[in-house]
Order: sequence, then C-alpha cells, then structure tokens
Amino acid sequence: MATIDLNAVEKSFGPIHVLQPVDLSIRSGEFVVLVGPSGCGKSTLLRMIAGLEEATAGDILIGGRRVNDMEPKDRNIAMVFQSYALYPHMSVAGNMSYSLRLRKTAKERISEVVRGAAETLGLSKLVDRKPRALSGGQRQRVAMGRAIVRQPQAFLFDEPLSNLDARLREQMRAEIKKLHQRLGATSIYVTHDQIEAMTLADRIVALDAGRIQQIGTPLDLYQRPANRFVAGFIGSPA
Ligand code: ADP
Ligand code: MG
Repeated sequence: MATIDLNAVEKSFGPIHVLQPVDLSIRSGEFVVLVGPSGCGKSTLLRMIAGLEEATAGDILIGGRRVNDMEPKDRNIAMVFQSYALYPHMSVAGNMSYSLRLRKTAKERISEVVRGAAETLGLSKLVDRKPRALSGGQRQRVAMGRAIVRQPQAFLFDEPLSNLDARLREQMRAEIKKLHQRLGATSIYVTHDQIEAMTLADRIVALDAGRIQQIGTPLDLYQRPANRFVAGFIGSPA
C-alpha cells in the first residue's frame, strides 16, 4: 500500500479559489479522515488524488511518485462514493469483476478474486443477484467489493455511508474498520459524521474554507482543538 503526499496542492475553478495550498503526508496503511463543512473542498481534494480533477498547482505523489500527469486508471486508486453507481443490468459478480475484465485479467484469476472479495464482504450468497434485489447496505458492500478486487494502492471514500440509516451505518462502519485492518490499506475517508471520524481515524484532517485547520489524532483534536471550527466539529468545549 502506498504513501500519499500532497505538496502545496491548490485548486481553482475559474476565478474561484477552492483549495489554498494543501500540505499533507499520509503513511502507508494509515486511515485518514477528512472532515469539514459542505463546499469546503473535500470531494475536490479526493478527486484530484484520483486524477478526476486536475490540480491547479502543487504536486501529488503516490508511493513517492508524482502522478499529476497520470491518467486515473494508471494511478490505481479506488474511490467509493455514497451513490453506489452499480451497473443495474450486471450481477453482483459482474459488477465486482468489471474493472478486471476491462484489464483482460484471466478468467480463473477473476473468479478467484471475486470469490475472495465476496467472502470478505459477506456477499457470497448474493453474487448472482442484480443490484435492484439488494438492500442499501448490500449495494454499498458491492461498491466496496468493486474497489477491493482492483487491489488498489489506496482507497478514497467520499461519504460512503451517508445514504444509509443509522443502524446500518454503524454496522458498515465496523466493517470498513475491519476491512482496513485486514487489507492494511492506505485510506482517506470523507465524512461529516463525528462518530465515524472519531472511531475510524488514525488521524483527522479538519478542512474549512479551503484550508487545513488542524491535523491530528482524534484525541489531539478533542483535547486541543486548534480553533472554534474544530472544537465545534468534535463537540468539545473550545
Ligand atoms: P465538499 O465535498 O467539501 O462539499 P466540493 O469539493 O464538492 O466540496 O466543492 C468545493 C467547492 O468547489 C464548492 O464551492 C463547489 O461549488 C466548487 N466546485 C466543485 N466542483 C466544481 C466544478 N466542477 N466547477 C466549479 N466549481 C466546482
Ligand atoms: Mg463532497
């Protein structure tokens, strides 16, 4: 699993400066949670790392290698969104194996990898179902399965659980944690849910108005919030 480094990464859309220079170094296997109010640039930051959006300035390094000019498919980073974007006409197995089929991976290898991912995610009995015959939580698992089978260098989660009800969120949160521990995957996870942030994060990055306000462990932010914004998010007295 790869390190991710952002060196003075900026983003503007036309005249609008969405992200001020962002510096961030993520260790291999680290789980970083990115929090901040709506519109502060969280998704834009993930999209730049994945290569779906170009950085206006600065360097993005994955595994120490500068990827700014690299196509998304060559970065080998998996993104998991809140909308699952599954192919409705394909089965669970079909959805999970799609990227491997595109890469012309050998059939035996594909079924082996899909079987493993389905088992990891508790989907073994559902591999022949179509997405419409799945619950919200199961669909989100398929979306994660699709990410896992690619054996990416890192996972980027953009509010993956925000469409699920409270009970399911809690269950999926625990599963994501287990999955992370098992795969040792470098992960960046965007959420506006304080409990998700506190329970999942090795470190939390608090972003506001396009700037990193604080980086630290959940306990750091809780005990020593850098400002009112962080204190407000973490729910501790400033
Ligand atoms: P967040 O995920 O934190 O809610 P986003 O990264 O989606 O925020 O958006 C940050 C800001 O950038 C917002 O003001 C949004 O309107 C703007 N923005 C995002 N994508 C585009 C785009 N493609 N064109 C113009 N503005 C954009
Ligand atoms: Mg967003």
